[in-house]
Amino acid sequence: MSTTDVRNVIIIGGGPAGYTAALYAARANLEPLVIEGFNWGGQLMITSDVENYPGYSDGVMGPEMMQDFRRQAERFGTGFITDDVTKVDFSERPFRVTVDSDEYLAHTVIVATGATARQLGLDSEQRLQGRGVSYCATCDAAFFPDKHVVVVGGGDSAMEEATFLTRFAAKVTIVHRRDEFRASQIMLDRARANDKIDWVTNALVDEVLGDGRVTGVRLRDVNTNERWELAADGVFAAIGHDPNTKLFLDQLDHDEAGYLVTQPGSTETNVAGVFAVGDVQDHVYRQAVTAAGSGCMGALDAERFLAAQEGHLMAAEAAPRV
Ligand code: NAP
Repeated sequence: MSTTDVRNVIIIGGGPAGYTAALYAARANLEPLVIEGFNWGGQLMITSDVENYPGYSDGVMGPEMMQDFRRQAERFGTGFITDDVTKVDFSERPFRVTVDSDEYLAHTVIVATGATARQLGLDSEQRLQGRGVSYCATCDAAFFPDKHVVVVGGGDSAMEEATFLTRFAAKVTIVHRRDEFRASQIMLDRARANDKIDWVTNALVDEVLGDGRVTGVRLRDVNTNERWELAADGVFAAIGHDPNTKLFLDQLDHDEAGYLVTQPGSTETNVAGVFAVGDVQDHVYRQAVTAAGSGCMGALDAERFLAAQEGHLMAAEAAPRV
């Protein structure tokens, strides 16, 4: 299907950033369309309790919060397509956004496809997500008071998460697959100086143990293949994130890791009329609340862009013809 209708704004991605952009755009009467992805909701769909989102004073389950976000955007007239975008063409306006054989046109596009935490790739990890397996210490550390948790990884994230976790947990074991660390020296030194942190190097997590909740991990020595079990109440995989930007890499400016680059203090990309919001352009803060704030900025930027375009058109129409 191809349509000649040109929408004011298409939002690609259904997480906190995308739904907040939709809420603001809908309330500005822009009648946004969110192409939210087949697996809508983003990273919060694999989180259990969220206790750090302002307004939910008793906490909320991640998936429930995303339902609330979506419902609020819907209330003001947002349209949704629950499918994945397969192609975009930002080379001329109106922009073209394709979902399989359907093509949608828009004056502005807000990219809110987020990032995905790298997973260990274990069936047991999938089964215990939100039940002791986590990808965000800032979000979930407080659920492990006086517990023993394992942090997997050897980069800055692993050092930062392990150090943060020691504020709550009694003991943190960092499991890293090499004996050299990718982490910066200062972060590594800080973790090494922390006597709540233990180290297991040259080892991989072979299996997350537990029936219903994490009770430990089975580790494997990468050199000898020896396996052993370590009791633990939680497992934090801190092995990096990948921005979901494959669709855009040949059209939008991005950094080496693939995060979209926006102008400082704005959500503008290098293509006028295309905006990027949330984790797809932020590898630093990565919180639902910062993503939502950024989504709001994207909608305001799109609204201003459309108003300026309209102003140009009106000025052109009013100009005397010679
Ligand atoms: P990263 O630097 O890519 O480190 C990922 C770590 O996970 C590496 O140690 C890697 O091991 C390990 N790993 C990858 N896949 C694995 C697997 N399947 N099983 C086990 N281990 C695996 O990612 P990051 O730590 O998230 O950092 C990303 C970027 O953000 C970096 O530029 C970092 O400096 C920055 N950052 C900065 C701060 C800060 O300054 N406060 C905090 C966090 C992140 P190998 O080393 O063997 O590859």
